[in-house]
Amino acid sequence: KLAVDNCFIEENFLVGRYPKRPKFSHKGTFGHALLLAGSRGKIGAAVLASQACLRGGTGLLTTCIPQVGYDILQATAPEAMCLPDPALGHLSELPDLQPYAAVGIGPGLGQEEASREVLRQLLEAAKVPLVIDADALNLLGANQELLDLLPPDTLLTPHPKEFERLTGEPARDDYHRLEQLRQFARQRRCFCVLKGAYTALATPDGQIYFNSTGNPGMATGGSGDVLTGLLLALRADKRLSACNAALIGLYAHGRAGDLAVQQTGEAGLVAGDIVRFIGPALQELA
Ligand code: AMP
Ligand code: MG
Repeated sequence: KLAVDNCFIEENFLVGRYPKRPKFSHKGTFGHALLLAGSRGKIGAAVLASQACLRGGTGLLTTCIPQVGYDILQATAPEAMCLPDPALGHLSELPDLQPYAAVGIGPGLGQEEASREVLRQLLEAAKVPLVIDADALNLLGANQELLDLLPPDTLLTPHPKEFERLTGEPARDDYHRLEQLRQFARQRRCFCVLKGAYTALATPDGQIYFNSTGNPGMATGGSGDVLTGLLLALRADKRLSACNAALIGLYAHGRAGDLAVQQTGEAGLVAGDIVRFIGPALQELA
C-alpha cells in the first residue's frame, strides 16, 4: 500500500513552475552546465545529451568527452564547448568544477575503473546540483560505498534495470518497486526517477509523482540520454527548485516525444526527434 497521496503530472499542475526568460537576460542568467559523458562506441549518447541540454535552455554547456569523441561532438553540437579528456576511449579526469552551476554524468560513460574514480571525485567535490544517469548509475550499483557520497538533492534517473542494480534487490512486483523507490529517495535524500511509461519521481520527503506524457515510440535507444541533457539544463537554472526542475523535465521530455511522434510515427521515432521538440514542449509551459 502506498502511504501518501500521489500526484499525476499534467500541464495544469505545472502552471507557474517554469519561469519565462526575462527580457534583460544573458547567458549567465541560465547557468553553465557541465556534462561528463561518452566512451568509445557510445559517443552518440554524449551528443544526444549535449543537444538536449542546449535545447533545454542552458546558458552555456561544456561537455567533457574522451579524445575519440572530440571531433564528433564539435561537429554535431557546435554550441557546446568541448573539453577533451587526456584518455582516448573513456573519461579519466575530473575537470575543475568551479565554473559550473550543475553537473550531469553518465550517458555513454562506460564502466572503466578510471571513469569510476571520476565519479567518486565528483561526488566528493561537487557543491552544485548533480544529475546521474546510465553507466554512472551502474557504477553506483556495483560500488555501493559510493552511494554514501551522494550529495543531498542529487537527481538520479534509472530505468528499472538500473534501479535494481542500485538497490541490489529485485522487486517482487510494480508496487514493491515503487515502495523501494520511495525508500531509496528518502534514505539517500535524493530525487530518484523510475523511467518507463508513466515515469515516477520520488522526492526526499517521500512524495511520488507520475508523469502523464510520453509514448511507446520513445522506447528506443538514446531517449534516456535526451532526458538527462534536458534535466541538466533545468538543474543549472538557479531559478528552478530541484523538484520543479525534475517535474518540468520529465513532463517536457514526454511532451516532446508526443509532438515528435505526430511526424515520425511510433516505430520511426528516434531519440534525436525528441531533441527537436524540446523547445516547443518547454514553450507550452512558459
Ligand atoms: P532509457 O531506457 O534510459 O533510454 O530511457 C528511456 C526513456 O524513454 C525514459 O525517459 C522513458 O520514460 C521513456 N520511455 C520508454 N518507454 C516508454 C513508453 N512506453 N512510454 C512512455 N515513455 C517511455
Ligand atoms: Mg539510459
